[in-house]
Amino acid sequence: MFDKKTSEFLEKLLITPSPTGYESPGQKVWMDYLSNYADKVESDAYGSAIGKLETSHDVMTVMLEAHADEIGMVVQHISDDGFIYINKLGGSDSTIARAKKVYIHSREGRITGITGNTAIHLQDNKNGGGKQPSWKDIFIDIGAESRDEALEMVQVGDPITYTDEVEYLNDEIITARALDNRIGGFAIAQVMKNLKAKRKNLKVNVIALNSVQEEVGGFGARMMSYRHMPDAAIVTDVTHATDSPGIDSREHGQIKLGKGPSVQHGGANHPGVVSLIESAAKKKKIEIQHEATSVRTGTDTDSIFYQKTGIPSALVSVPIRYMHSPVETASIEDIKALIDLMTESVLAMEPDQSFSVL
Ligand SMILES: [Zn+2]
Repeated sequence: MFDKKTSEFLEKLLITPSPTGYESPGQKVWMDYLSNYADKVESDAYGSAIGKLETSHDVMTVMLEAHADEIGMVVQHISDDGFIYINKLGGSDSTIARAKKVYIHSREGRITGITGNTAIHLQDNKNGGGKQPSWKDIFIDIGAESRDEALEMVQVGDPITYTDEVEYLNDEIITARALDNRIGGFAIAQVMKNLKAKRKNLKVNVIALNSVQEEVGGFGARMMSYRHMPDAAIVTDVTHATDSPGIDSREHGQIKLGKGPSVQHGGANHPGVVSLIESAAKKKKIEIQHEATSVRTGTDTDSIFYQKTGIPSALVSVPIRYMHSPVETASIEDIKALIDLMTESVLAMEPDQSFSVL
């Protein structure tokens, strides 16, 4: 477990809704916390936020990046009888969307609803019983009797999240909605806290970036890395733990919960940055796991590494089970190890650090 104050920050980040495109509430929480540990905190027009530790004008700048947004749903259509039809925001899974409690984040405040599920007794082929639903089959009941009554509470375009909040299965295992990627925003904030405390050993400038709109295309990271153009980037996101039933390691690799953060190789991951991270892990005896990228990393790393003339980048991930569901599950020890790994990697960087491969 983390200490009480640190756990409170993690839990506050997790329960504050930040569906993709509507991240402001979560970003306010993050910026407020980071203002204790950064020389400067600022945001851009779309709401990506940074905190800076400024060492000197003459030294290299490393960016630590995570994404602030979470997957969710959005109000698409309100029927004459007051039921709300929805669509996904990012990669939400329609096959698990029935019979859930949801919050619609409307101008009137937070509206509670439920995604209807036809009773098993009444199911037939026509109403979708037994079939895997697509998003057009999912509707929310907010207790309204008509479209007009529903419109007093919600409007088309309001974002939606599941109501699930934070639980601990034991001292080690946390489960929550949106661990993807509040863990990342939490981790880079803790790294900044560590770096501020160890400032006399810090030889480079550091930017912690919490980006918007990763789940729909890595857009916030693209805007902010172009704007700040760091000399290197360490990106953190979640990755699939493949140790729950039904996942083929031959296809997806072997990543276990509780066995440390995963360092990714190939593609956007620059071998020089990867090697610096691996040396830091070895030196500080931090257990890490390894995974390969085939085409894309599927994270903000893909948006960062090729900006302008290139930003040497690497991805370190926290394994989670049940990604893009309301019961995402992670190990606290992995999160702690990720924070140590990122902290030590930054402390290992020299003022004139370069990452040429030739
Ligand atoms: Zn993610």
